Amino acid sequence: MRQGQQQRWKAKLAVAKIHARIADQRRDFIEQETTRITRESQAVYLEDLNVKGMGNSKGKRGKSVHDQSLGMFARTLEAKCVRYGRTFVKVSRWFPSTQLCSACGALTGPKGQAGLKIRQWTCDCGARHDRDGNAEINIRREGRHIVAAGRADT
Ligand SMILES: [Zn+2]
Repeated sequence: MRQGQQQRWKAKLAVAKIHARIADQRRDFIEQETTRITRESQAVYLEDLNVKGMGNSKGKRGKSVHDQSLGMFARTLEAKCVRYGRTFVKVSRWFPSTQLCSACGALTGPKGQAGLKIRQWTCDCGARHDRDGNAEINIRREGRHIVAAGRADT
């Protein structure tokens, strides 16, 4: 093998090893986090993220590692909730958890691609929101509605 080829091969092997280690860490993280969430919660309401769609937006490379992790996280969490008798409800990806003002119910929150960077916003009703905090309130509320209406599929 020529010097150059050998170096490239070594570099590839090193990259493969790093990927394997990251995969192990990710699996450990998912195991620990899903166990913690299941232990601490009576009910889990999870936004059903459009993992496939997110992957497609990245072009021909298909699902990114990040998207695959999200999918694995969701499946592991659901399995543990079922095993330990927790309520597990998926909230539709179409539910506007980010845009909905959790105080007044108006759709005044960040929208679309441009809205992805907005972490905080103020609704017309005067309520000031943290993006994730507001979405969490909305998802929990919607999850409870789904359970109350008997529409949960698990
Ligand atoms: Zn509002």
